[in-house]
Amino acid sequence: MPELPEVETLRRGLEKHLVGRTIAETRVQVAKMIKGTLCEPDVFKKSLQGAKILSVGRRGKHLINKLDSGYYLLLHLNMRGQLLLTPADEPDAKYLAAAFALDDGAELRFHDMWTWGEIRLVSESELAEHPALRDMGPEPLSEQWSVQDLQVGLAKRPKTAIKAVLLDQAVLAGVGNIYADESLHRAGIQPLRLSGSLTAPEVKELHREIQAVLTEATEGGGTISDNYVDADGQIGRFVPRVYDRGGKPCVSCGTELTRIRVTGRGTVFCSLCQK
Ligand SMILES: [Zn+2]
Repeated sequence: MPELPEVETLRRGLEKHLVGRTIAETRVQVAKMIKGTLCEPDVFKKSLQGAKILSVGRRGKHLINKLDSGYYLLLHLNMRGQLLLTPADEPDAKYLAAAFALDDGAELRFHDMWTWGEIRLVSESELAEHPALRDMGPEPLSEQWSVQDLQVGLAKRPKTAIKAVLLDQAVLAGVGNIYADESLHRAGIQPLRLSGSLTAPEVKELHREIQAVLTEATEGGGTISDNYVDADGQIGRFVPRVYDRGGKPCVSCGTELTRIRVTGRGTVFCSLCQK
């Protein structure tokens, strides 16, 4: 699933192309992916027609396109969604869910093999009330996010495994399986430790490593993966140290990495480096 660095990379790529452009026409191939009060495909298409894109924002893993009609076009890729900018005359690829034709001859295309992604056109008040956004925790790459904020987040679920708490979007926006595993390895913290058992120096270290790994991955255009590309079709360049490397040697000490499950999610850690 694309996480903060991947969605932020997409946002930056889309921003360059989309801001100032007008949506000329919308095509909907997978109607069930259109959500919200304007989900009926004809209503959705009509409501978008002629709208100019004023900005491309992000909150957690959600892309938020502000339109001059007063509405916001929200895009959430979920597990396997992809957004690509293509020339409008390019043939449709397999798994096309929706396409937004722009006034410059390009199309923004949402592909989704699993059709778990979400597309939603909302008013300003609906945006404020969107449950996922309303309850979302702080943005870890914002300058305001402090060690204290992380401490407060962890204190909400002290008897839960730290890995599971890091995945909780109400504690932290945009962190998923990749960056939870990576930041715990870098901070030397075992993923099953209860969040309330972390010492103050460990919380400080974890805070630092969450910011460091998200920054590095964003600068690298996201994690290298079979199912993620940016808006221009480029794959990520960030290489994880533990994520999806169960059974392989730890890059720090050479110990074979352990693979376990934490709240149903595959989790990899080093039994020597992480305590
Ligand atoms: Zn190790």
